[in-house]
Amino acid sequence: MDGLTADGMSAAHRWGDPSRAVTLPDGVRTLLASALGVREPHPPASVAALPPPGLSDRALRALEAACSQVRTDDQARLAHAAGMSTVDLLRLRAGDAADAPDAVIAPADHDEVTDVLAACAAHRIAVVTFGGGTSVVGGLRASRDGYAGVVAVDLARLGRLRHLDPVSRTATFEAGVRAPRAEELLAEQGFTLGHFPQSFERATIGGFAATRSSGQASSGYGRFDQMVVGLRVATPSGTLHLGRAPHTAAGPDLRQLFLGSEGALGVITEVTVQIRPTPPARRYLGWRLADFAAATEAARALAQDGPLPAVLRCSDELETTVNAVSEGASADGCLMITGIEGTEDEVAGVASALTERLAGLGGQPLGEEPGQAWLRGRFAAPYLRDALLDAGALVETVETAAFWSALPATYAAVRDALATSLAGQGTPPLVLCHISHVYSSGASLYFTVVAAQADDPVAQWQAAKAAAGDAIAASGATITHHHGVGRDHIPWYRDEIGHEGVAVLRAVKRALDPEGVLNPGVLLP
Ligand SMILES: Cc1cc2nc3c(=O)[nH]c(=O)nc-3n(C[C@H](O)[C@H](O)[C@H](O)COP(=O)(O)OP(=O)(O)OC[C@H]3O[C@@H](n4cnc5c(N)ncnc54)[C@H](O)[C@@H]3O)c2cc1C
Repeated sequence: MDGLTADGMSAAHRWGDPSRAVTLPDGVRTLLASALGVREPHPPASVAALPPPGLSDRALRALEAACSQVRTDDQARLAHAAGMSTVDLLRLRAGDAADAPDAVIAPADHDEVTDVLAACAAHRIAVVTFGGGTSVVGGLRASRDGYAGVVAVDLARLGRLRHLDPVSRTATFEAGVRAPRAEELLAEQGFTLGHFPQSFERATIGGFAATRSSGQASSGYGRFDQMVVGLRVATPSGTLHLGRAPHTAAGPDLRQLFLGSEGALGVITEVTVQIRPTPPARRYLGWRLADFAAATEAARALAQDGPLPAVLRCSDELETTVNAVSEGASADGCLMITGIEGTEDEVAGVASALTERLAGLGGQPLGEEPGQAWLRGRFAAPYLRDALLDAGALVETVETAAFWSALPATYAAVRDALATSLAGQGTPPLVLCHISHVYSSGASLYFTVVAAQADDPVAQWQAAKAAAGDAIAASGATITHHHGVGRDHIPWYRDEIGHEGVAVLRAVKRALDPEGVLNPGVLLP
């Protein structure tokens, strides 16, 4: 079957550019075995098993009347069977593609999206809006129960830059434009969006809006939801066109309803974003702080009193050591990376102010090399995850955000919960952490775990994730800073927004999607 790798997975479920696939050196495999107890995994299933397509002929004809491209072949269904969480990838490797849609619909424009939604509502077909397919929270797995079938509505054909306003510095993209293409289109006219999540190579503009994504440079450029000035949204009840001025006092801001709505309230078909002139200069610098407590204090000082660089990250002791060892270096304390972007004068000014400020906070300058090394490897982790999964390791991430006063306790609680849960199932895991985004009032923490896969690695991770989620909730932090709710975070999200919050969302959903066909089981408790 076309589009499948040798192990039977859809090529879509290996990360990015195949020519950049990582092969682990023998020394690393030996280290994984001796330090973490990693064993070769069971061989992957030869071909993932797809459920038989479930749509009736009548429903299929209605979809074909609504949209110029409808596919029901195995390759298309398999490529849309899951997102990119480690659980998604482990299930596919085990030959489980039970969540594959019955058909993949690729509308050409907003009107076709509207027609598809009408057909789905009329035939009670569940709709999974599919952007880049990089969800890590189960956001692409719709419930089948009570529906006549499930379709993935892939927005890849909504791939145009509709309008660029250089005076207002805004750009309107169709939702299916992938991030690298968006940057390419903007660069042709001297602009950038400045949104660089680790999933940059695959994720889409619509997906960023639908999940309130944050990028690596969000401390300086802002999170994606802060960049959005306008949205066009198709719903089964009609179209909303929101955002006619940079700000309005005309009632609650309805754009906020759709930012983070994860395909459950409508299909975002166009996004208007703020853009900036491409920065002519940038300087990425490394700093050493004595320990994570000192690094956290330094990050807080910069976030609250400046200077605030575009990128500001600090690794804890273990993440600093693991990164240094993987580059053949040694390290003490904690590594902070600061990325400064702007004109030559601005960069020079911020770099000098940063040097003075960090010196007062115990920061030791390490020069440009650590910053350049981070820039070179900033999109490499997903390739490494594929290789580590191949080798039998369990690799996954957990993220949260908390106020500064609660951050140290949240850090300790989540790290301990992950370590305890995973240690109970074999050799103690590696639990690494960094501060990934900063605000005046707090920051986000991003944990990465590497452990040996147990006999049932899906159950192993689900137990660890539940322990981490409970620790996050108990420490008063949020269940997600930027990955979204999907299916995986619903229990904690329900507690975060409370009974009244759930009732508000349900009422909005009833108004926009009376048949409940939009991404059932995702976001809404
Ligand atoms: C390796 C890796 C690294 C990641 N790093 C980051 C990171 O640094 N920062 C970050 O914020 N996230 C990160 N993520 C998570 C993910 O990439 C983001 O959530 C991203 O915003 C999703 O975009 P997408 O286009 O892939 O959306 P998809 O995964 O296709 O969809 C995500 C959710 O939004 C819905 N949706 C998608 N498009 C639309 C639309 N146009 N209208 C309505 N609903 C829609 C889907 O139904 C789904 O529920 C990472 C994921 C991976 C796998």
